[in-house]
Amino acid sequence: EDVGSQMDRVVTEEEWLQKWEAGNIGFHKEQGHPLLRKYLDVLSNGRSGLRIFFPLCGKAVEMKWLADMGHSVVGVEVSEQALKDFFAEHNLPYSEETVPEISGAKILQSTSGNISLYCCSIYDLSSSIVGKFDGVWDRGALVAVNPCDRQRYVSLMITLMEKNSSYLLVTVSYDPNKHKGPPFYVPESEIKSLFG
Ligand code: SAH
Repeated sequence: EDVGSQMDRVVTEEEWLQKWEAGNIGFHKEQGHPLLRKYLDVLSNGRSGLRIFFPLCGKAVEMKWLADMGHSVVGVEVSEQALKDFFAEHNLPYSEETVPEISGAKILQSTSGNISLYCCSIYDLSSSIVGKFDGVWDRGALVAVNPCDRQRYVSLMITLMEKNSSYLLVTVSYDPNKHKGPPFYVPESEIKSLFG
């Protein structure tokens, strides 16, 4: 495949914020993802009360879904509007605090305590700030990362994973010459080399 046409494309944080502001969020789905339903057992592996990470979370409804199952959910998203919409649309009361380790960042936390959403860039996070996770739901995240940042993103994700954690990754397959992305086309061979 010739993915060369997408490799130089950059979507800035400002552009993402503008998408949220304009309601240009076709990536958001009201229904929980069928693949999460299907592979839930792979993610939880019979364990309960896990810490699950949602990189580039948007207002993904699956966060509410996993929290309702008793897991604790941590997400990160640059758009504060997305996070506020998430809590509002699920009628979840939340509190807001600054994050001492990250200048300009905020954490929005459900009052019940099991959903914590960081409003900052994922590249501001580290395991010393957010800890490590038992599971990752990566839908619209690796494929939304700028191609030039993929290795950095994956290296960071690996540092955020516990030894026995599971990583569920959703990608999209299409001809990268026909669409500029995001979502970007990430071939399976590249996924293998990125995650090693
Ligand atoms: N995973 C979500 C959203 C996918 S769209 C879902 O399944 O619906 C990608 C999201 O990543 C957008 O909401 C965008 O605002 C956010 N984003 C883009 N770059 C980011 C970054 N560097 N750090 C955190 N969030 C980012």
